[in-house]
Amino acid sequence: MLKLPKFSMGVGDRFGQQGKAQLSAFIKAKELGVDIAPVWNKSNREHTTIGTQPPSVRVEADAAVKECGWSGAYFVDADHINLKNVDGFIDSSDFFTLDVAEAIGKPAAAADIDAFVQSMQKYVGSVAIDGLSAPLSVSQDDLVRIAKTYLGAVKEAGEIYRHIESKKGAGNFVTEVSMDETDAPQTPDELLFILAAIAQEKIPAQTIAPKFTGRFNKGVDYVGDLPQFEREFRDDVAVIRFAVKEFGLMDNLKLSVHSGSDKFSLYEPIRKALKDFGAGVHLKTAGTTWLEEMIGLAEADGEALDLAKEIYTQAYEHRKELCEPYATVIDIDFDALPEPFVVDLMESKAFVEALRHDQKCEGYDKNFRQLIHVGYKVAAKMGDRYLNMLRDNEEVVARNVAGNVFDRHLKPLFIG
Ligand SMILES: [Zn+2]
Repeated sequence: MLKLPKFSMGVGDRFGQQGKAQLSAFIKAKELGVDIAPVWNKSNREHTTIGTQPPSVRVEADAAVKECGWSGAYFVDADHINLKNVDGFIDSSDFFTLDVAEAIGKPAAAADIDAFVQSMQKYVGSVAIDGLSAPLSVSQDDLVRIAKTYLGAVKEAGEIYRHIESKKGAGNFVTEVSMDETDAPQTPDELLFILAAIAQEKIPAQTIAPKFTGRFNKGVDYVGDLPQFEREFRDDVAVIRFAVKEFGLMDNLKLSVHSGSDKFSLYEPIRKALKDFGAGVHLKTAGTTWLEEMIGLAEADGEALDLAKEIYTQAYEHRKELCEPYATVIDIDFDALPEPFVVDLMESKAFVEALRHDQKCEGYDKNFRQLIHVGYKVAAKMGDRYLNMLRDNEEVVARNVAGNVFDRHLKPLFIG
């Protein structure tokens, strides 16, 4: 069985140019004695926006691994796939994130719900789980409501899983079940029954991505109640540990945090929970590698900075349409965005400071950063003009990409 190691991190790379730079950060962690498996993830949405095909991610990952002589585990994640789009990812991926968030709330067949509720009767009442902040209290009504809300989604995950299994063969890929792209967070008691349903559906899930409480906006820090997040995260870890034994799930099953990148304030509580429970985690980050490319170009100055400014100008002009697909995961104050003529006057240092995610820096501008985050379509349209500029400035770009992965993610989360 292909198994995901205890620690793993998903790195997106929209333009597929930074595999080596990203991997160098994992090599640095390994040299410090911490093994973290890199997972290159790219969703169908990103492929569609940029005009790439799923096999390109495999080509990038394999090439980076070969060039860097990486001997550890690594994976290529078909991120947020469903039955409609999974086929294009079958050959090149060995990690599949089954996205069933849309099926939440669509009830399964009444007979299936009854059977599930029947099979879970022993958990009605108070459920004491080792490590939980308080025993779960589950009424019959709760159980029925949870079954109606989530059983259909888990059954859909089973369908997608079996479709992939029929093509790739059992044990040849890692399975993640994701429910994060929805409005309501899942509570620990809901997670318990979701895991029970996953076991009944015989999905060998190695990671589960619930929706956590709070805002996970793209490329910026967490907004929410930190103590509440910490309590829920620890409770989820405890529930998973219990469910693995109770329901016979994969022994390496762990939480997957779809962070949307840069949830720096969560790293300390997560690291502490992992240490206390001896648990693992998969951290998925979004496309902030693209932002580091922009920072690298701005730092390079001259025509590279000019191109970065041109991208901002176009992103500003198309801000409404660029933001639309991301409406639920960005918070941009349009009135506070610098106008293109202001950005045009910026020196290299000012552009870099506005974009780089250093919240202590006075020049940091989260509106500017979020707009560029969703503005990758502008660079995709430039095609070779953009890619050649990256290649011409490879060293400064790679330094920013690698430094970001190591200093802002791997180190605070896994090393401390
Ligand atoms: Zn996600």
